[in-house]
Amino acid sequence: MIALPLSDSTLFRTLGFVDGAWTAADDDETFDVDDPATGNVIATVSAMGAAETRRAIDAANHVFPAWSKRPAKERGAILRAWAGLLITNTDDLARIMTAEQGKPLAEAKGEITYAASFLEWFAEEARRVDGAVIASPASDRRLVVLRQPIGVTAGITPWNFPAAMIARKVGPALAVGCTIVVKPAEQTPLTALAMAELAVRAGVPAGVFNVVTASAQGAPIVGAELTSNPVVRKLSFTGSTEVGKLLSRQCADTMKKVSMELGGNAAFIVFEDADIEAAVAGALVAKFRNTGQACTAANRFFVHRDVKTHFVTRLAEEIAKYKVGVGTEDGVTIGPLIDDAALAKVSAHVKDAVARGAQVIIGGSPHSLGGRFFEPTLLDNVVPDALMCCEETFGPVAGITEFTDEVSVIELANNTPYGLTAYFFSRDNARVWRVAEALESGMVAVNTGLLSTAEAPFGGVKESGLGREGSRWGIDDWTELKYVAMAGL
Ligand code: ADP
Repeated sequence: MIALPLSDSTLFRTLGFVDGAWTAADDDETFDVDDPATGNVIATVSAMGAAETRRAIDAANHVFPAWSKRPAKERGAILRAWAGLLITNTDDLARIMTAEQGKPLAEAKGEITYAASFLEWFAEEARRVDGAVIASPASDRRLVVLRQPIGVTAGITPWNFPAAMIARKVGPALAVGCTIVVKPAEQTPLTALAMAELAVRAGVPAGVFNVVTASAQGAPIVGAELTSNPVVRKLSFTGSTEVGKLLSRQCADTMKKVSMELGGNAAFIVFEDADIEAAVAGALVAKFRNTGQACTAANRFFVHRDVKTHFVTRLAEEIAKYKVGVGTEDGVTIGPLIDDAALAKVSAHVKDAVARGAQVIIGGSPHSLGGRFFEPTLLDNVVPDALMCCEETFGPVAGITEFTDEVSVIELANNTPYGLTAYFFSRDNARVWRVAEALESGMVAVNTGLLSTAEAPFGGVKESGLGREGSRWGIDDWTELKYVAMAGL
């Protein structure tokens, strides 16, 4: 095993974190975490199961009354301290993240800042949780609405944003007074555990935030406990639509609240009146950030016939500037894909599009570096029913489809069961409103390739999910309204 060059080696944790204690699996089993850039094993982590999960749930339940009764200002102060510790430890956290996830170091640092922004945002929102007194229909009654924490909650998170997806759940949970058990993705448990170490230092009490680590085989077992245990009152999941549907079904028996941030199939539309340079810059961010491995990633590019040659030429020029490589190397802008299956999927999508008549403008193959690296790729004349337009490619591949009129491109964009993000570029103000309102999508980015921020509600419609994370509405999913009728006054 290769030791990571960390300035604080105690952030490198490999045991699960239950009830404030670093905890091995009951049977001492572990699973390997590898570096996607090299395939080298970088850690062996506790492979926990149902019994360990139950204990984490019990711990979260035990501490819930005390935690939920703490003044919101105190909970907020702890969250703020945690956010501060993320920032002061950015370099080490980014090293850990790049080692297990593969993204370039600069992107990993950016994600730590982004993760901290959720903790900070919800530290502030903690004090703004409020209820209501409703005008009463009777003079001897008062109608009061309390907003209370749901209770013990669970979070299951993916590998593509190992820190931010945890902060986006744990932030609002802790702010409103919930406690939580998180199961991070098997590919990226180290970032989650480093965050737990910093949570301890920030003053998060034992049992309030627990991390149950599990292998790929163990994930369904931990998931079954989290979704069936009646003590857990809510599940927040970020991941694939397929697993989201399965977990929602599992939660139905105990009628848990669910929040689901699932897959997307984002359209990226360039109208004939667009600023093409802005559209190219937007396309680069929306498609190639995190090597294309984001649920918000642009997955279908629709470009108006009049500007297509210009857009494709400029985009290809910019794509040619990317440096593919190991995320810790200077100047690297595109890292590896997460695993071999991801590489196989990206290759299959390119082959399918080409077989249906697409032309490769740049890239198109696994990278000469080998392993899980794929060339940043641009394809032209992709037919709308190609595989890469129907499924998330989750890789550094942009495929262009030509269109000629606004009505038909909106129809094309909406012709998917998903509805997470849509992007479009236009300088016509009336069109901007028309198209933004017509797109069936939880989020629409106009003249930009990046819209995620802690202040705004993140989430999807259709099969992209339920609920919103971040923003002032982000606490809604973690609280219950209780109506208190006060009579005889
Ligand atoms: P991806 O395909 O991007 O890896 P998944 O939806 O498979 O997305 O994974 C997201 C998270 O869901 C990970 O933490 C993973 O371990 C977890 N997961 C996958 N399958 C299950 C399951 N059956 N029960 C509970 N968790 C699961």
